[in-house]
Amino acid sequence: MNKLATRVSQVNPSITLAITAKAKAMKAEGLDVCSFSAGEPDFDTPDHIKSAAKQALDDGKTKYGAAAGEMPLRQAIAHKLKKDNNVDYKPENIIVTNGGKHSLYNLMMALIEEGDEVIIPAPYWLSYPEMVTLAGGKSIIVATTAENDYKITPEQLKEAITPKTKLFVLNSPSNPTGSVYNPSEIKALAQVVIDHDILVVSDEIYEKILYDDATHLSIGAINEEIFKRTIISNGFAKAYSMTGWRVGYIAADINIIKAMTTVQGHSTSNVCTFAQYGAIAALESSQDCVVQMLASFAERRKIMYSAIESIPNVSAPLPNGAFYLFIDISKTGLKSLEFCDKLLTQEKVATIPGVAFGNDNCIRLSYATDMESINKGMARISNFIQSL
Ligand code: GLU
Repeated sequence: MNKLATRVSQVNPSITLAITAKAKAMKAEGLDVCSFSAGEPDFDTPDHIKSAAKQALDDGKTKYGAAAGEMPLRQAIAHKLKKDNNVDYKPENIIVTNGGKHSLYNLMMALIEEGDEVIIPAPYWLSYPEMVTLAGGKSIIVATTAENDYKITPEQLKEAITPKTKLFVLNSPSNPTGSVYNPSEIKALAQVVIDHDILVVSDEIYEKILYDDATHLSIGAINEEIFKRTIISNGFAKAYSMTGWRVGYIAADINIIKAMTTVQGHSTSNVCTFAQYGAIAALESSQDCVVQMLASFAERRKIMYSAIESIPNVSAPLPNGAFYLFIDISKTGLKSLEFCDKLLTQEKVATIPGVAFGNDNCIRLSYATDMESINKGMARISNFIQSL
C-alpha cells in the first residue's frame, strides 16, 4: 500500500466517537450498558423542526445550494446573533457548515498555517488541537486547575502569547468541564486579546445550557475592538437536539467567511439543503423546547452531582453549564484510560478518559441521558470505585 500522508499519523482518532460507538455496539449485542460518553442529548429533535425539514423536501429543497448556506438561514442566524448575543453581523458575515466541528475545522483550514500558534486552555474539547495540527499549526496548551473551575486566567493567556500567536480558543460553557466564564472574566480575557492583537474563536455551542444564575456573555459583544477580532462558532446540535442533522455556523469578518466559503466550495459544498430549513424553524419558532430540555438537564445534573459527592475518592467542581461533569479520579490510583477501560469492562458504564481532553487525572461524564441510566450508572461507578 502507498504510504499515508504524514498529517494523518500526527493526529489521534476521536475518542469520544470511538467510545460512544463501542457503547452502542455493546448495547446492540444485548449488554446492559449505561452510556455517559457522548455529549448528545437523548431527546428527539422537536417536531416543528422536523416538520419544517419535511416541508422543505416537499417544496423541492433537494438541490445544490450556495456553499455558504441558504440565505434565509444566514439571515435568521444574523437575527439570532443580534437578539441573543448583541453582536451585529450581516448574513454575508455568516457561513453555514456541517456542524460545529466542521465550523472549527474549516476555520482552522482558512486561518492557520505552518508556524502559527493557537492557544488552547486545557481541559479542552479533544478535536481543537487535532484540527490545529491538521492545518499545520501548533497548539499551545495552557493547563487550568479545578481550584479555578478549569478556567484560564488573563495572566495565563498573556504569558502564553508569543509573536507567532494567531488565535485563542475560548469555549464557554466548556466541554468537557461545564465551566462558564462570568462576564468580568470574559472582559478581562478580551482585553488581553485586544492588547496583543490576536484573534479569538468563541465556541458557543453550549450557550443555551446554563444553570443557576449563570449568564453567557458573547465576547464580541463587549466593544468594537474585540468584535473585530472575534469569530463566533455555534450550531444546532446541543440546544435543539439536532446532533445528526449536522448544521453549524461561523460568524466573523467577511474575509474569513470568504476564505472559509472557498474551502467549503472545494470540500463539502453546501450543507444538506432541507436540513437548513429545519434549522430556520429552530431559530424562528418558540424556544420552549430549549427551556424544557434545559429543565431535564438541570434535574439530571443535580442527581449525578450528588451521587459523585457521596462516592469516596472522587471530586469535581459543580459546573454551571453544558451537560458534563469532569471528575478527578486521581485518588483511585488509576490513570484515566485504565479507569474508563476497567469501568466499561467490569461495570458496563461508558465514560470518556480525561487524557483525551488534556487531563489524565479526570474522566468526563455526560448527563445528556435518561434518569434511569444515571441512577443505575452512578451506583455502578460507586461499586467500581469501592472495589479498587
Ligand atoms: N461534542 C460531543 C462530545 O464531546 C460529540 C462527540 C464529538 O464530536 O467529539 O461528546
